[in-house]
Amino acid sequence: MNRRIFSRNVLMAGIAVPSIGMGINPDPVGSGLQDNEKNNIPEREFDVVVAGGGTAGVIAAIASARQGAKTALIETRGYPGGTVVEGGTALHSFFNLWKAFPGVEKRQVVVGIPQEIIDRLLAVGGTSGHNEMTTNYDYDSACTSIDTELYKLIAFEMLAEAGVFIYVNTMVTDAVRKGSAIEGVITESKNGRELFKANCFIDCTAYGDLSARAGASFIELNDHSVCNSMGVANVNIEKLYEYLRSINSVGQLTFGIRDGKENQIVRFGSEGSALGSTGLPKEYLDGMRELGAGLITTTVHDNYLMFIKVNYRLPVSPTDRDEVAKAELIIRQNQLKTINLFKKYLPGCENAFIARTSPSLNIRRGRTITCDYDITSEDVLQRRHFEDDIMVYGFHDEAPRLQVKNGGTYGVPYKALRVKGIDNLLAAGMLITSDHHAHMSTRNTVCCMGQGQAAGTAAALCAISKRGTRQLPYPDLKNALKKDNVYLES
Ligand SMILES: Cc1cc2nc3c(=O)[nH]c(=O)nc-3n(C[C@H](O)[C@H](O)[C@H](O)COP(=O)(O)OP(=O)(O)OC[C@H]3O[C@@H](n4cnc5c(N)ncnc54)[C@H](O)[C@@H]3O)c2cc1C
Repeated sequence: MNRRIFSRNVLMAGIAVPSIGMGINPDPVGSGLQDNEKNNIPEREFDVVVAGGGTAGVIAAIASARQGAKTALIETRGYPGGTVVEGGTALHSFFNLWKAFPGVEKRQVVVGIPQEIIDRLLAVGGTSGHNEMTTNYDYDSACTSIDTELYKLIAFEMLAEAGVFIYVNTMVTDAVRKGSAIEGVITESKNGRELFKANCFIDCTAYGDLSARAGASFIELNDHSVCNSMGVANVNIEKLYEYLRSINSVGQLTFGIRDGKENQIVRFGSEGSALGSTGLPKEYLDGMRELGAGLITTTVHDNYLMFIKVNYRLPVSPTDRDEVAKAELIIRQNQLKTINLFKKYLPGCENAFIARTSPSLNIRRGRTITCDYDITSEDVLQRRHFEDDIMVYGFHDEAPRLQVKNGGTYGVPYKALRVKGIDNLLAAGMLITSDHHAHMSTRNTVCCMGQGQAAGTAAALCAISKRGTRQLPYPDLKNALKKDNVYLES
């Protein structure tokens, strides 16, 4: 038989992956495989397969492996991290919005594995810590800045330590269905095509690639800009800050650890870049607006702005490869124009240069996957909780215009992670929640991380006990999450 056998694979846990079988279930959904190919691709077997090693997926895989499930993480890039290391500015938010509501208690509402990552980053100088906002705290009361490169490393290490089988540079391209369950996912890599079988799967691809390939229903709303965030080096942060202060234009000012020193500026921005209402030169503001650029940024290093975002509005959904290709070029051109505006108009940025860009543009929303429950804006704003909460959350990206009521939290229910119509598929991250104003909360990094821990835990419990995702008793999940330091309000 003309079988391609790749017996040595990723060894992050120090364990080879020997499981290579003889054929796959002849019932693929839209796989495009020929019969002879189906019978000739190597198979691997796991308890849980996590597709996408980004913000949610890293934590899902760690949580699953720690429950004792043999877990594979499949990530198309060469490193884990996803949009949290490529798109965002600060991690919003481990806390409730306590500062906006005098008398409301400060609570850290996301703990668990997300907090472990922050602890590990702190130990290597990779985060500013959890820092209180000194202005605009009706938007967020605390934010957490990270070093993107160290985040990638720490995530990699924690996955390996948990015993996750890590397949980077590997893309999930298809799914094989058996009745109402997924039997396996097809991947492509330098090793060629492979089949990863498992009892339970988690879609953390942000775009919902796995769910879509497996035949789940989805919508594509195209209600956000796409973006490429760049790191800007050679900036005199204090000089820039003094300039913005002198024209009364500082917003989101936050102090924390920067290059080992406490009480340094770690987040700030010019209020006027979007609003055009400050002492910044009109030519600068007009240019920034035209480019879709903004100057709300974070830093954990002297002389370096970690994220400067350049946004672009696509005419179609960001799953359209050809439109995305055009946007990739336009955004890169606009990044250079943005830097030139900085150099010309912003004191402290005279010698700035682009030190890092994201490998490809970032998406605020691609596909939204239909799950058993779709969190609504009323759920978020009215701080509703559910009988099957798997985490709680208190940040809303449109605050103070839209806030979680009175600095409280809402619950993310387990049913919001169960992909409708498929027995063994969960979803976590920005791909759940269709309602725009609810999504403006659930899509944020720390919410995606919390969802990841719950999805990984649930998938492992289901896989080990050979149950479908709807057969998992909620008390079992809740107990496991609480044991692993997940904060719940009941
Ligand atoms: C420009 C921008 C700015 C933002 N700013 C902030 C902010 O300031 N604060 C905040 O809290 N949030 C912010 N967000 C939101 C937040 O960063 C994202 O919503 C969140 O990180 C998404 O997490 P995720 O796990 O769903 O997806 P991701 O982190 O994107 O992870 C998806 C992973 O799946 C991989 N993948 C995709 N397809 C496949 C496939 N077929 N096979 C294998 N792997 C695949 C990707 O490479 C990626 O690693 C921002 C988002 C954007 C786009």
